[in-house]
Amino acid sequence: MRIELAENDSMARAAKRARASRLLVQVLAFRNYRVTNLKKAGAVYAVTFSVEGTRRFGNCDCVAGERGVLCKHIAAAAARHICAAQEMIAAQTATPAPPTAQEMHAAMDAAPVFKPTLPPAPKFRGVEL
Ligand SMILES: [Zn+2]
Repeated sequence: MRIELAENDSMARAAKRARASRLLVQVLAFRNYRVTNLKKAGAVYAVTFSVEGTRRFGNCDCVAGERGVLCKHIAAAAARHICAAQEMIAAQTATPAPPTAQEMHAAMDAAPVFKPTLPPAPKFRGVEL
């Protein structure tokens, strides 16, 4: 069953249950996850996300999810999904073009000349080295 996601108490409670569990979240595809409960043999669930306009939905095939309850599997996958979404946005953000040779020369010409100040020459048995 599709469950609308929002930053509310049920999401906070589900996230708390997720943190108290040992859940393995695997990315199958964008918005498509496999969540395994490492404390419960055979407990593997499919979690998917969908977007409709500004509304976001999660879906999990566990017993709670089928009843429309925001389960810990959705909360765990949502945390991973937020990272995936941010990675996608970062990848789409164009990196600035490197400076041209002309720009680099101009920057070098504008930079102050480096004049190191050396300590006095050391002396060895009275002889300056
Ligand atoms: Zn679930």
